[in-house]
Amino acid sequence: MSAFDRLIVALRREMGDRVRTNVYLRDHTTYRVGGPASVLVEIEVLSDLEFLSRAMAEEGGIGVLPLGRGSNLVVADGGFRGVVVRLGPRFASLSGEGTSLVAGAAAPMPQVANRAARRGLAGMEFAIAIPGSIGGGVRMNAGAHGGEVADHLTTAMVFHLPSGELMERAAASLELSYRRSTLSDEEIVVAARWELPEDEPDEIKRRTEANRKHRAETQPGAVQNAGSVFKNPPGDHAGRLVEAAELKGFAVGGARVSELHANFFIAGQGATARDVHELVRQVRARVYETFGVELETEIRFVGRFE
Ligand SMILES: Cc1cc2nc3c(=O)[nH]c(=O)nc-3n(C[C@H](O)[C@H](O)[C@H](O)COP(=O)(O)OP(=O)(O)OC[C@H]3O[C@@H](n4cnc5c(N)ncnc54)[C@H](O)[C@@H]3O)c2cc1C
Repeated sequence: MSAFDRLIVALRREMGDRVRTNVYLRDHTTYRVGGPASVLVEIEVLSDLEFLSRAMAEEGGIGVLPLGRGSNLVVADGGFRGVVVRLGPRFASLSGEGTSLVAGAAAPMPQVANRAARRGLAGMEFAIAIPGSIGGGVRMNAGAHGGEVADHLTTAMVFHLPSGELMERAAASLELSYRRSTLSDEEIVVAARWELPEDEPDEIKRRTEANRKHRAETQPGAVQNAGSVFKNPPGDHAGRLVEAAELKGFAVGGARVSELHANFFIAGQGATARDVHELVRQVRARVYETFGVELETEIRFVGRFE
């Protein structure tokens, strides 16, 4: 029996049918492309993570991928060889008193924005149209409309798989910057806490609604894309550069640059992860040839791409 098979047997004994094998990640990502994960484990309670940590330490050398709502991922057609860890609904609760807001990592970002607004807490309006989870949002330091996760974040509860320890991490220790953090795949965010400034609920709701409306008018919805493909280079916009290179509508296989927003690439009917990857490669090369600007991807590619 391989290390992998032994791990699956051990996990199944503890977590039953919450441990699934050969799970197609196209069914768990907004791009809707990509092959299977060897194993997908749905975490119901913290002790599941502790068990996973021990079981993985025993086998060693097996890759891990935390999965939120899959809205920033392109998974290779060949899939991901390793264990995908997804937090279940019990990790989606919202709480907090006074000016603090605590969200489980599985909570959707728009829900957190709405809850903050109802409580008269400002600073989360940016999150209203980001279709990710709090866990993915912290890892990516998601942001929009001039706001980002890092703005008022004080701490995050992070489960460290190699040691099996749950740690309360100060926001500063995550080194959040433009769409990045120093969290690794072995660090699972389970909750986050913000201290938010107070404001009139109606004012917050007005700003939140303005963000939502602006988004609906200028970007495609969360269908077969993963939001901005490239980070904005200093002092410019990736979408402007792609458009100026006359690449709106440019296609590779079933993947094409959106006509609505040139930094969104859509995987149409029959598109493969390879099409998306190749489109990204070609667009980046054309922008570099035309403007001498090297674009960095914001979306994350998982698995092997030739
Ligand atoms: C239509 C559309 C619009 C978008 N607009 C924006 C935007 O305005 N601003 C923006 O920043 N992003 C935007 N995105 C991208 C995406 O929604 C964000 O990056 C979001 O934060 C990803 O969250 P997720 O739960 O989907 O994470 P996933 O895509 O599942 O994962 C993203 C990364 O986070 C890691 N991760 C996931 N969960 C956890 C966890 N619990 N602990 C540790 N690591 C974890 C994954 O391993 C991966 O590295 C958009 C996407 C779409 C489809």
